[in-house]
Amino acid sequence: MIDYPLQSIIIAMDKKDLPQVFRILQEMKSQWQDETLASREKDPFRILIGCILSLRTKDSITKKVANHLFSIAKTPAEILAIPQEKLAEIIYPVGFYRQKAKNLREIAQILLERYQGKVPDNLEQLLELPGVGRKTANLVVTVGFGKAGICVDTHVHRIVNRWGLVNTKTPEKTEEALRKELPQKYWIPINNLLVLWGQNICLPRVPRCSICQIQPFCEQKGVEKLQ
Ligand code: SF4
Repeated sequence: MIDYPLQSIIIAMDKKDLPQVFRILQEMKSQWQDETLASREKDPFRILIGCILSLRTKDSITKKVANHLFSIAKTPAEILAIPQEKLAEIIYPVGFYRQKAKNLREIAQILLERYQGKVPDNLEQLLELPGVGRKTANLVVTVGFGKAGICVDTHVHRIVNRWGLVNTKTPEKTEEALRKELPQKYWIPINNLLVLWGQNICLPRVPRCSICQIQPFCEQKGVEKLQ
């Protein structure tokens, strides 16, 4: 581990660097095991439910629990048929499983009452569902429906700020800034690519800058220790 308090030259990532940066991200992706929801699921309902289960929960646990739940209930009507206590037992040990069980049943009811059991394909209607924030809504829109959106989770927020591509304090502000700065062809792939990058290279606490191929383009903003 290297103490890295100062940089002699500050380089903020520029839009013109993006094609090369995304090429590197794409090439490196194949080296790693991809357990993300976006790589496993394409059906909007499964993405919606999977993303809610995944909040504050490891990918490996989410995957196991989601598969277990879908082996019992595959549709809104089947989820609604499960009593809340029983549903909480089924989705344990995901984080906040009691609250999530309540939200899942309410979502199932809304989908049946307002949308004929289908998942809506736009952000505004998705954001009205209980427990659904911008990250979940954007993942459903982009991966489930292939429509324009940017799913900003903790990895995307951290990494694009370290790059110096944006200068924001919250994932919501990062999404807003990326919608202005990022060419639309990168909107859908950025989430999956940066989740994998964040799990393997640009780690949350001590990023692996010494082996990072993006380092020549990166401001390394806020990085105090690296390996
Ligand atoms: S690992 Fe370091 S150099 Fe690479 S993207 Fe993250 S902060 Fe930048």
